[in-house]
Amino acid sequence: MQISSAVFLKSALKPVQYPEADRPEIAFAGRSNVGKSSMINCLLNRRGLVRTSSTPGRTQMLNFFDINERFRFVDLPGYGFARVPMAVKKSWGPMIRAYLESRSTLRGVVFILDIRRIPSEEDLRLLDWLEEYGCPTIMAVTKADKLARSRRDRQIETIASTCGLPVDAFTLFSATTRQGKDEIWERIETALEL
Ligand code: GDP
Repeated sequence: MQISSAVFLKSALKPVQYPEADRPEIAFAGRSNVGKSSMINCLLNRRGLVRTSSTPGRTQMLNFFDINERFRFVDLPGYGFARVPMAVKKSWGPMIRAYLESRSTLRGVVFILDIRRIPSEEDLRLLDWLEEYGCPTIMAVTKADKLARSRRDRQIETIASTCGLPVDAFTLFSATTRQGKDEIWERIETALEL
């Protein structure tokens, strides 16, 4: 995918604040620190477009980006952030569900897991919601560069079985080596029907 423009549009907490639903959208979901910002920046060849989790404020909202004036990326708020007040933790579920339920232009969700971690209860809950709303899901396992090959394979098998999915549903990714970048883009393009 050639990226001619990638522009931050706005942050939103609830549907009335979303930008107009006039372009197809791909959302990115995962726990805080999973490597979501790094993945989006890597896909868009931009360094600082999406802020990383060291700035928790904006990461607790939905952030909309316009890409090539043709489609949008939505950075969904990360979850599992230990230092976040209870009120914010509680608002996360309704915020995500409201988005998944109401967004007519949503074409797919890139669901990101860390290769070194067993999926958490929150990960599995989100996966259930995606299924419940019939949302096409692109499963990605990031930070692949952090493990040696043999451990990586074993870890993917564990992650896949915890999610109840086949191993080949997952795309291995690394923002550091750019492994898996083309494959993620292919899956995004298919979801967007580009
Ligand atoms: P976010 O909270 O999900 O947006 O996570 P970030 O993108 O901010 O990444 C969290 C931390 O993991 C940062 O220190 C990143 O540099 C690091 N990180 C993210 N992706 C990768 C990756 O593919 N490989 C390695 N080695 N580190 C990564």
